[in-house]
Amino acid sequence: MRHSGVTVVGAGLAGAEAAWQIASRGVRVDLYEMRPSRMTEAHVTPGFAELVCSNSFGSLSAYSASNLLKEELDKLGGFVLSVAREFEVPAGASLAVDRVKFSEKITNSLQSLPNVYVHREEIREVPASGVVVLATGPLTSSDLAASFCSLVGQDSLYFYDAISPIVLFDSLDTSQMFFGSRYGKGNPDFLNVPLSKEQYEELIYDLTHGEVVGAHPFEKEKYFESCMPIEVLASRGPKTLAFGPLKPVGLEVPQTGKRAYAVVQLRKENKFGTAYNLVGFQTKLKYGEQLRVFRKLPGFAEAEFLRLGSLHRNTFIDSPRLLAPTLQLRKEPRVFVAGQLTGTEGYLESSATGLLAGLNCVRLLEGQVPLRLPVDTMLGGLLGSITDREKKNFQPMNSNIGVLPPLENLPKTVKRDKQARNAAYTQRALDSLEGWLNENVRFQFRDYVQNEDRLKGDCTRQLRPE
Ligand SMILES: Cc1cc2nc3c(=O)[nH]c(=O)nc-3n(C[C@H](O)[C@H](O)[C@H](O)COP(=O)(O)OP(=O)(O)OC[C@H]3O[C@@H](n4cnc5c(N)ncnc54)[C@H](O)[C@@H]3O)c2cc1C
Repeated sequence: MRHSGVTVVGAGLAGAEAAWQIASRGVRVDLYEMRPSRMTEAHVTPGFAELVCSNSFGSLSAYSASNLLKEELDKLGGFVLSVAREFEVPAGASLAVDRVKFSEKITNSLQSLPNVYVHREEIREVPASGVVVLATGPLTSSDLAASFCSLVGQDSLYFYDAISPIVLFDSLDTSQMFFGSRYGKGNPDFLNVPLSKEQYEELIYDLTHGEVVGAHPFEKEKYFESCMPIEVLASRGPKTLAFGPLKPVGLEVPQTGKRAYAVVQLRKENKFGTAYNLVGFQTKLKYGEQLRVFRKLPGFAEAEFLRLGSLHRNTFIDSPRLLAPTLQLRKEPRVFVAGQLTGTEGYLESSATGLLAGLNCVRLLEGQVPLRLPVDTMLGGLLGSITDREKKNFQPMNSNIGVLPPLENLPKTVKRDKQARNAAYTQRALDSLEGWLNENVRFQFRDYVQNEDRLKGDCTRQLRPE
């Protein structure tokens, strides 16, 4: 063994990927997983990379954000994704898997690597020394969460998310909206959607009659006042929203010179100004209901939603303040964070961060500078988004084109055509990743393959340059 190795905590989607990437490069991994001796509220098996709910890794549609991330992971040698593809089950345009075979293959593959030492035990404190990957996910055990809090700060670890829908700016009819901030304070950063009394009442009706997603038993009635689902707030009384997040005071409508009955405010979601979120619209309404209800808002008829709203029990850190795009804690670079803890969301995204964390652990051990992915790739853009220091009110993010820097000079016809526009973003991302791989990684992959005779076969297969 060339190094003392890496401690990976959590053998979920991110930890399994990180462990594989590290071990495949000939470095010892001590992989800690608390199941089955201590289960989470959602896991039911002792298997690694258990899919706790749906069995879908998202869209396979050409040019979708999720498919782009898959193409990038294929190029980077993603282990978890390769197993998902192996155990694919028919699911239309999505990549769904046989969850039992998928988890079995990942568990067996890791356990059979000679340099992976599996410890079935709970880690209660962040290891005090050595290179560590923390990948304990949305249901991180409470003792470890407390220890993590003392490392990063009490206010830097969150236990619930409250995600508002995010919409593509270019898809809105902004002639029915106006920029401004309440009472003209600060920059006019908000995009305001004025509502008449009738429009407001229809919205309240829709919110309070829409179908909602049921909460898991461990999530029930734990909402904080500041991140209450909008439909719960609306159900408190017909005027609650008009006196709360939709209050019109201090926002004169330039088109009429009057105050609206209520105002929906949209806040910039990214520094490019290409995506906006609906302030205060965290919701448990089903996705179909959200589309139906929110597309009725003035100027939203053609709205393209980059993500829809949700609320979950979750554990994640304040990544804009704490994390570097290399997935190292800024104040303690020997500690890497991966998976849902970083504030990314989803099985695929978790495995993607596990991959980069694993790769960078090895580089750190070998005295090389940890890598950053180009920001115009889906993974690089996602990491850029969650670690953007200017970001306030941080909430978890999944892959979507709103995390990518805008393509300048796209003809209007292409901008308006979702397929053509996304094709252009996809091409740029894949070209960019190709260049990055050639510059940074391929030659090292070749070195590993030549040096690590012991890790032949499956382990090296994915590391070979094409
Ligand atoms: C109820 C629920 C439903 C979800 N449904 C979906 C869905 O349908 N689709 C989707 O894409 N995403 C879903 N998610 C999000 C999903 O959890 C993540 O996408 C993904 O599993 C996160 O990967 P991870 O590696 O960060 O965490 P996990 O996959 O959860 O892995 C973390 C691992 O760490 C272990 N662990 C925790 N604490 C410790 C400790 N102290 N010591 C040792 N081991 C520890 C856990 O046992 C677990 O195995 C859901 C989450 C929850 C909670």
